[in-house]
This record gives sequence, C-alpha cells and structure tokens, in this order.
Amino acid sequence: MKIETIDLNFMGTKQVIASFLLLDEGGTSAALVETGPTTCLDRLTNGLKDHGVSPEDVREVFLTHVHLDHAGASGRLAEILPNATFYVHELGYPHLADPSKLVKSATRIYGERMDELWGEPRPVPENRLEVLRDSEEVEAAGGLLVAHDTPGHAYHHLAYLESDSSALFAGDVAGIRLPGQSYVRPPTPPPEIDIEAWIGSINSIRRIDPASLWPTHFGSYGDVGRHLGELEQRLQDWLLFVEGQMDEGTEREEIAEQLKLKGDAEMIAEGAEPEESEHYDLAGTYPMLTDGLMRYVTRRRKDD
Ligand SMILES: [Zn+2]
Repeated sequence: MKIETIDLNFMGTKQVIASFLLLDEGGTSAALVETGPTTCLDRLTNGLKDHGVSPEDVREVFLTHVHLDHAGASGRLAEILPNATFYVHELGYPHLADPSKLVKSATRIYGERMDELWGEPRPVPENRLEVLRDSEEVEAAGGLLVAHDTPGHAYHHLAYLESDSSALFAGDVAGIRLPGQSYVRPPTPPPEIDIEAWIGSINSIRRIDPASLWPTHFGSYGDVGRHLGELEQRLQDWLLFVEGQMDEGTEREEIAEQLKLKGDAEMIAEGAEPEESEHYDLAGTYPMLTDGLMRYVTRRRKDD
C-alpha cells in the first residue's frame, strides 16, 4: 500500500489540515483517512485526480472523529464517492447521520465564522455508515487498517494503524505538529476533552508501538517516543497552569493570554520561529484551548 498526503490548503494555508490517501499498488482501489471540512472539498477531489484516482475507486473513508475539520465534508463526499463506506466511532455515528447538534455546538465556538471556516456539513446516509470498535480491522487499498479507541481530545476518537508500514493515523490524539517542527501543541477545545482519558490513550499508543505518527495537523513523524512524551508532559503542565490561574481568580481572557505567552515560549525554546504560532493557531487557538481546559477543570471538580 502507498500512503499519499493530500494538503487541503485550509484557509489558503499549506500544511494545516491533511487527508491521507491510501492506494493499492495495483491501482484499482483506494481509501481515505479524514475528509477535511466542506470548504476544502475541491482540494480533496483535485488531490484524488492528481493521483489518478477516480471517485468510483474510493471504497473506504476512515474518520478519526466527527469534528468539522476532520469529517465535515463526509456528507458531500458520500454523494461524490458512490462506492465508499464511511467508518466512524459508535459515539460519532449519530452526528454523521444527523449533523444538526454538531453544527449547534460548533456555532457556539466559531459563531459568525462557521461558513467561512467549515461550510455546511450534510448528513451521511445511514446505509453508507459503519461503526468500528477498538481493535476492529478493515481491509482497505490492498492492506489492513486496525481501529484503536483513543479518547481524550474527544470521547468518540479512533486512531488507525496501517499494519504493513505500522503508520498510525492519529487524528488529534497525538496533538498538533507542523512539518519541520518538533513542537507539539495539545488541541484541547471544548466541550469533550478529558486529560485523564487522553493520557490513557497516549499509553495505548505506546503499547501499539507504531513506526510513525500521522497527525491530521499535519504530516508524519518518526520520533514517536519523544513526540508522545512531549505531548503527555505538556497536557499535564498546561492543565496545572490553567487550574492554578483559575484558583487565583484570573479571568478567562487573561488566562488565554498567559497560556499563549507560555506556549509560544516553549515553542520558541524548541527552535521554532515566533510566527509559527499563527500557523499552529489555524488548528487550535489559545482562547479555544483555554476554554476546553477550564471546562475540564470545572467538570472534574463537580464530579469529585
Ligand atoms: Zn482537528
């Protein structure tokens, strides 16, 4: 199997959102991991064309989770790819069959920018949807993909191991990391993040022991142990930081500013240029990441 990365050129910017194209060496069947948002649909279909893949050839579409930057184009794509089955976590299934709740929840975060960023998701017909549970396998593009339940960024998150090359398509569970950088930014948006579950998933990935990580934001990386170590450490550190600020009674805007100062300093300490921060922002801004962490702290305290 061959793996190609289609750059969806999100908001006219390279290397923010990827869709991964899996190709049978014989050239007759293909699969996708992630669809990207509706606003990037032309880039996706052009990417298929560029690799000589006709719409009929795509048999499987694997979704890591239903957030609009990963699966937003699914409904439209179901119309374009007549033979494709869409695979999703059982808790994500209802939101692909009927995206209305998802749109409401995303509108709370993105407000007036919904259309510009994501476009309108359409429902995927239920006869085109298939649920995958932990360790379930699907033959695709001349190879085999294994689904791994990996909650944390969302409860309904799957990562997919390609068993030939041991590549792990990680969605958002392995964080945001951009090509040429070592820095991993934890995507912690509201409403579902769960740091404890997330660290459990990082440990699951360590047990899977993939040869490479393929985060949707963006690319592929071979330094798996270092990458996961950095992500785990930063998740714990940022959580403590935000919790400490909340205990001091700091306002949300100020916490977001402080977290940005801290995060950017950490990024620059790893050798990145300061302007890289804006590039990372396209996959998750500090106000949004702060909201998710604050909500998690509040929820966990209520549960105690
Ligand atoms: Zn994402």
